Amino acid sequence: MNELNVPQTMRIYCNFCKKHTTHTVELAKKRPRRSVAQGQRRYLKKLEGYGSFPRPKPDHEKTTKKVDLRYLCKECGKKHTKGQGFRAKKFQIVKV
Ligand SMILES: [Zn+2]
Repeated sequence: MNELNVPQTMRIYCNFCKKHTTHTVELAKKRPRRSVAQGQRRYLKKLEGYGSFPRPKPDHEKTTKKVDLRYLCKECGKKHTKGQGFRAKKFQIVKV
């Protein structure tokens, strides 16, 4: 999947309404890390001192970014996902 156009509205199944409804598609926003979370506290503690990055640094970067979509149900107003994200070189939400 190199280039992908996704329609802004589509009819898909809503787990809350238990039927197919109209959804609007949007990209997930990046949220700041919660510094009170156990994993984040452990990670920050691990960074202290010399030579203590917890995992090997990647020697090459991937050429694509993962696309993380959220579907907003127009009937109940709840957001949900559809499986995991996917990789695409070019991604666009098109108005139909
Ligand atoms: Zn719904």
